[in-house]
Amino acid sequence: MRRIAIVGGGQAGLPLALGLLAKGYQVTVATNRTPDDIRGGRVMSSQCMFDASLQIERDLGINQWESQCPTVDGIGMTVPHPELAGQKPIDWSAKLDRPAQAVDQRIKMPVWMEEFEKRGGRLLIEDVGVQELERLATDHDLVILAAGKGEVVKLFERDATRSPFDKPMRALALTYVKGLEPKPDYSRVAFNLIPGIGEYFVFPALTTTGPCEIMVFEGAPGGPMDCWRDIKTPQQHLAQSVKLLETFLPWEADRARHVELTDANGILAGSFAPTIRKPVLTLPSGKIVFGLGDAVTVNDPITGQGANNATKASKVYLDAILARGEQPFTRAWMEQTFEQFWNYAQYVVTWTNTLLMPPPPHILNLLGAAGQCPPLASAIANGFDNPPDFFPWWTDPVACAQFIDENMHVTESLI
Ligand SMILES: Cc1cc2nc3c(=O)[nH]c(=O)nc-3n(C[C@H](O)[C@H](O)[C@H](O)COP(=O)(O)OP(=O)(O)OC[C@H]3O[C@@H](n4cnc5c(N)ncnc54)[C@H](O)[C@@H]3O)c2cc1C
Repeated sequence: MRRIAIVGGGQAGLPLALGLLAKGYQVTVATNRTPDDIRGGRVMSSQCMFDASLQIERDLGINQWESQCPTVDGIGMTVPHPELAGQKPIDWSAKLDRPAQAVDQRIKMPVWMEEFEKRGGRLLIEDVGVQELERLATDHDLVILAAGKGEVVKLFERDATRSPFDKPMRALALTYVKGLEPKPDYSRVAFNLIPGIGEYFVFPALTTTGPCEIMVFEGAPGGPMDCWRDIKTPQQHLAQSVKLLETFLPWEADRARHVELTDANGILAGSFAPTIRKPVLTLPSGKIVFGLGDAVTVNDPITGQGANNATKASKVYLDAILARGEQPFTRAWMEQTFEQFWNYAQYVVTWTNTLLMPPPPHILNLLGAAGQCPPLASAIANGFDNPPDFFPWWTDPVACAQFIDENMHVTESLI
């Protein structure tokens, strides 16, 4: 049977590893943290996943937390008035056709790693660099590098034509809390867009200490939400989170009056540049390595797509490996497989990148119209599960006006 090595035991690498094992492949996962390191470590993501990605996990039988994890049943969008404190010119929400869920990666990854070994996989705990990649490439028919944002992924060449930004576009922070007031009607990603300042969104999840809510802060660089550098303790991080809400989003501060951290590791702050890389790396020996997940497609978390992308990419790669049978895994096959994923991911990346820039008038118009038009709100909310659905209307002002018009007519005919 063919031997496949995967570097990186994360949201991209482990579903692929488990999928290959189930088909009888010999699979090695080399990753640099043990299950206990991950369990006892910092949160890594807010990892909200939508139904199509959750379905991939269900199909692999790795959806162990589905019945325990609170559901995210909708998406809400609020834009505060730039001058009138407490006013919300845009404020709507819509239900998702099928719920989303966010299971803390500190729960998922250790169990998947242990499951991988139980099902016959070979797990190596090692920090992989060029030398280790060479060794893995000698012993395996295919080496996949899915090391997330690890230094090693910088070996892949940046694809300048697909990467419009060369620096971080947001200062990011996560705060995992308990005690947040739930939304009275249905649970949701409550997304707040504060023009020129940044974004804040919050939604229910499952963490190591049970159900929680995850606060995500996205601060424009140099602005008042880019404020985490001098924070020294978890309690200061929580206090800063609450202070930002009190300053910019009083309705969210009201919900957060009694919050406390889930645990001292339930916080994160940092930044990175959204980057697309070329998917094939040539080692000094001439052997080749194939990139997967964040290693080659890293998006800003503003649209919550990275874990979704990683999962969907792992499925494209799984199917392509299986379809390859006994034929060699050539550079052409790797490039073709990545392009197959890119046919989908290009829309995710373009949509995400638009949200990192000041919203153009047609988007403000669209978000405003969605408040009067439930089908529009529903289209925007459900697009998170399949971002290609946002096109062409998200980026084309003429198509956008037409899309608004069509949906407004539907609403009028229902009244
Ligand atoms: C603040 C924040 C919020 C986010 N929120 C969301 C969200 O709501 N929804 C969503 O879909 N996505 C979200 N994401 C993105 C999502 O978490 C990632 O896109 C996803 O985890 C990528 O999966 P991956 O397997 O490619 O990388 P990872 O999950 O990062 O896994 C990489 C693995 O490689 C290992 N590794 C690294 N270097 C080496 C090395 N040299 N040798 C061996 N092993 C190595 C790491 O230890 C890790 O196990 C968020 C990200 C951030 C930062």
